[in-house]
Amino acid sequence: MGRAVKAISLTIDGKQIKAKEGETIIWAALENGIYIPNLCAIQEKMQPSASCRLCFVEVEGETEPVIACTEPVNEGMIVNTRGKNALRLARTAAELILASHPVDCGHCLKNRSCELQKIAKHLGIKLKTKRFRKLERNLPIDESSPLFIYDPNKCVLCGRCVWVCRERLGIGAIGFTRRGFKRMVSTFQDKPIGESICSQCAECVKVCPVGALVFKEGKVLVPINP
Ligand code: SF4
Ligand code: SF4
Repeated sequence: MGRAVKAISLTIDGKQIKAKEGETIIWAALENGIYIPNLCAIQEKMQPSASCRLCFVEVEGETEPVIACTEPVNEGMIVNTRGKNALRLARTAAELILASHPVDCGHCLKNRSCELQKIAKHLGIKLKTKRFRKLERNLPIDESSPLFIYDPNKCVLCGRCVWVCRERLGIGAIGFTRRGFKRMVSTFQDKPIGESICSQCAECVKVCPVGALVFKEGKVLVPINP
């Protein structure tokens, strides 16, 4: 018989909460209605990718902000998600993502259910931020699936779709290719999705936090976030 999971008491933003031993700060917060910005987090994933760098928080006794998706909860821990240093780091990460994002919400099927919009609002930054030089990719949009559209220009490289397709479903129709600024999600040999081994289950669309994978108009609409 497995060992019973111990309950941990901690405080996040002044709120006393209970979490499970071994849980990370981000899930303890989200499960208790405290929002911490994130794009790449997936609860089922054993090893968080910690790639979006948006979930910085401050922990009493630590000199530097920590990443909430990798930091486990501890008994008596005091967490501040709104600390100046944590917010500064999260804002920089968000503005870097936005620098290579073609912001055109009015024409985007994800408008008003987009995680980037929520993050920008939460962090008090503009979607059309001018802090970093704008670098857009101008890649072709893939409309070959009967169900959904893939716009790689809007992809924030969170990896959720790749993980779901490969790890949860065992299909592996999509993966990351290329390096640096050219890094993108694509199929084997860059085939259009409709001509690849994609099964059209559209589970990737359901986990995409932004307008990179969206159902075609009139197809099933689903809420964001896994
Ligand atoms: S993905 Fe989000 S931020 Fe980008 S254009 Fe669409 S709604 Fe706007
Ligand atoms: S297509 Fe969507 S889910 Fe996939 S990596 Fe890009 S933003 Fe993330």
